[in-house]
Amino acid sequence: MGGADMTTTSEPRHVSPTESVLQSVIAAADRLRTPPEVVDLLRTSWREVRAQVPVRMDDRTLRIFEGYRVQHNGARGPYKGGVRFHPKADLDEVRALAMLMTYKCALMDLPFGGAKGGVMCDPTHMSETELNRLTRTYTQHIGMVLGVNRDIPAPDMGTNQQTMAWMMDAYGARYGYTPGIVTGKPVELGGSYGRDQATGRGVAICMRELARMERVAPQDIRVAIQGYGNVGSWTARIASEMGFRVIAVSDVKGGIWNPDGIDIAALDRWFAVAGSVAGFEPAEPITNEALLELDCDYLVPAAIGEVITEENAARVKARVVVEAANHPVTPAGDAILRAKKVLVLPDILANAGGVTVSYFEWTQNIQQFRWPLERVLDELEKRMVATFDELMTRAARDGTQPREAAFDIGLERVARAIQLRGFV
Ligand code: GLU
Repeated sequence: MGGADMTTTSEPRHVSPTESVLQSVIAAADRLRTPPEVVDLLRTSWREVRAQVPVRMDDRTLRIFEGYRVQHNGARGPYKGGVRFHPKADLDEVRALAMLMTYKCALMDLPFGGAKGGVMCDPTHMSETELNRLTRTYTQHIGMVLGVNRDIPAPDMGTNQQTMAWMMDAYGARYGYTPGIVTGKPVELGGSYGRDQATGRGVAICMRELARMERVAPQDIRVAIQGYGNVGSWTARIASEMGFRVIAVSDVKGGIWNPDGIDIAALDRWFAVAGSVAGFEPAEPITNEALLELDCDYLVPAAIGEVITEENAARVKARVVVEAANHPVTPAGDAILRAKKVLVLPDILANAGGVTVSYFEWTQNIQQFRWPLERVLDELEKRMVATFDELMTRAARDGTQPREAAFDIGLERVARAIQLRGFV
């Protein structure tokens, strides 16, 4: 698929999220000469559960939501991946995200396969009691495919540690007390120290390592971050602690821009009261769309997927895109960035800090033992740096882009595990 074609096509064919991820996998399989039978196995999921999730709303009406749990591949270990509550979390998107988890866990060398869950709903328009009921019903209806050694959910977009507490409780009511059934739980219920900041810290570590490789001081790197949820806000905090100049951030309500740099601690105090970054001063207002096209060095999409596409990729001015969100760049957008020589640090590396600390949480739960925060952060640091180095070395050796090197390493490990197990 040629980049030039994609920019000149008047009506680009819509590529579904699953097709997008498969393009990366199939290209990796071609480079690696992966046996076709192994590739065929990875084109679809091992198991996909679709469940009705009826919820009695606070106004007594009954609403029937649709929920999923997709287990893509478990050759390397129990299925692992988050649960997304979002209006666009349909089966195709959840399947694509499950596939990404397979390669993310393999790239980080975690003993997990890949899964994802989702409920098509808008949590921002639901009350706490409605979300509690929805989460419990969803958990009951997919509970038979979960297990500490089978499939371990975690938070994703629209879910958080409270959601995980409800999932653990609902699962425990039927199967007995099982803290290791979910990760990203509140610390009080067996969650790990550092899990909340883990994804953002992993993103910031990748940025720092890249800056070191480029031999540019973080102080001279202007960063724009789209999204101020769990991932975006922790990325902003930790990156600014590392010395990066965060010049713009945004959330669903709007964005702010200050070319001199934003004081993130002051922004957090503002956010705690205003509930949004919008309106913070000293800064100019900026839209989410304009933020993506801002004059900056590192652009960090940390919100929803598919925000950099063939529509706007040509206008991206950053020299680096760090994929803190899952799948923020479409294949057509990626081709344009590549033609412009924009370096893209792929999602399966950049946001892998979250699932890495999920692995530490699962380990602690199994051992009924708690690690201090310093140990969690130290182990996360070592693994992120080692994988960053491995990936960049591989990309330099093979003359590939970081995304290609990431899929090559991930697919190699998954394919090897499939063959060793004797699946094919
Ligand atoms: N939802 C996160 C991700 O996409 C974390 C998954 C996990 O911790 O299992 O990587």
